[in-house]
Amino acid sequence: MASIYERYNLKPVINASGRMTILGVSTPPQDVVDAVTLAMGSYFEMKDLVNKTGDYIAKLLGAEAATVVSSASAGIALSVAAVIVKNDPWMLVNLHATPVEGPREIVLPKGHNVNYGAPVGTMIALGGGKAVEAGWGNECSAEQLSAAVGSNTAAILYIKSHHALQKSVLSVKEAVEVARKHKLPLIVDAAAEEDLRCYYDMGADLVIYSGAKAIEGPTSGLVVGKKDFIEWVKLQGQGIGRAMKVGKEGILGLTVAIESYLKRAKETGAEMEAKLTPFIEDVSKIDGVSARVVWDSAGRDIARGEVSFDEKKIGRTTKELIKDLKSGDVAIYFREYRANEGKVEVDVRSVSDEELKTISQNIRRVVNGDK
Ligand SMILES: *Cc1c(COP(=O)(O)O)cnc(C)c1O
Repeated sequence: MASIYERYNLKPVINASGRMTILGVSTPPQDVVDAVTLAMGSYFEMKDLVNKTGDYIAKLLGAEAATVVSSASAGIALSVAAVIVKNDPWMLVNLHATPVEGPREIVLPKGHNVNYGAPVGTMIALGGGKAVEAGWGNECSAEQLSAAVGSNTAAILYIKSHHALQKSVLSVKEAVEVARKHKLPLIVDAAAEEDLRCYYDMGADLVIYSGAKAIEGPTSGLVVGKKDFIEWVKLQGQGIGRAMKVGKEGILGLTVAIESYLKRAKETGAEMEAKLTPFIEDVSKIDGVSARVVWDSAGRDIARGEVSFDEKKIGRTTKELIKDLKSGDVAIYFREYRANEGKVEVDVRSVSDEELKTISQNIRRVVNGDK
């Protein structure tokens, strides 16, 4: 594969940032790659492929129905379009051509209206919806969510994510209760979450996952849900969904990835912690640098290495150090959400022991000011 990097003059990357779209998300296991290859070399009745794989995935997850889409972002847009259009053939092809009659407001907690690389609000608008924020920047209770519901509400949307506000926000279970009270569907965006069953089991009508994140499939998305809702999502393939088409390789690749993901033993937080220990000892020896293990802020079983830079002692800002680490022969990427506090996080899920050594060598290099 080195030749691909050379031929197109691409920079090798060490991804210590987690499942990041800007770096190519994940590297699927061989059985997924094989399924993609097989799909690429074959023809299918596509409707048959969509329906049968959807049913298969639904059965695996104990859900009524499921369907593969092109990304979680597409999953949000299509779910919004699905609750607005349902099976209306005229609306299906006129979603953006005319003012939408009937409910089209999508109510979500204000602290869930986030930018995950693209804004949630953009996907809602793409699906013909109008975002209505409930609560405040720092809180949203069940009562506040309920208060934002009106006669134009089409659905409630809950973003289950580390990107979203965590404190003083109602739980998914409480959001289910609010949706039931108002007889509205609940859509849960669980794009990067690891549990493919729990939000459906809690009573969500549509649950969305990103195919390449936790599941480590090809670029794709998954929508799991109640039968009617999934049928309406599929119907969007003849409307806005056509611009978000998922190919046979994505459909079969994700189906195999889900099966494989459910079977294989997951790397535990404790294993990640053990992998991090020598790295933490090593970088802690660098003057002006300290490190420790921290746990995922969204409560997933993920341990990461938090590296803190004493900017005064080093004489450079963390942002400058991060920039240097990306511009070496190998680009090294960390989680940068807390760079303004002088901290980066090292996610080891896609990093080998050898690469961890390269990372600490390079931290030493940039902190010491060597080029
Ligand atoms: C990654 C992410 C998405 C988008 O997933 P894609 O498959 O890249 O479109 C949506 N919502 C949240 C919360 C995410 O983390």
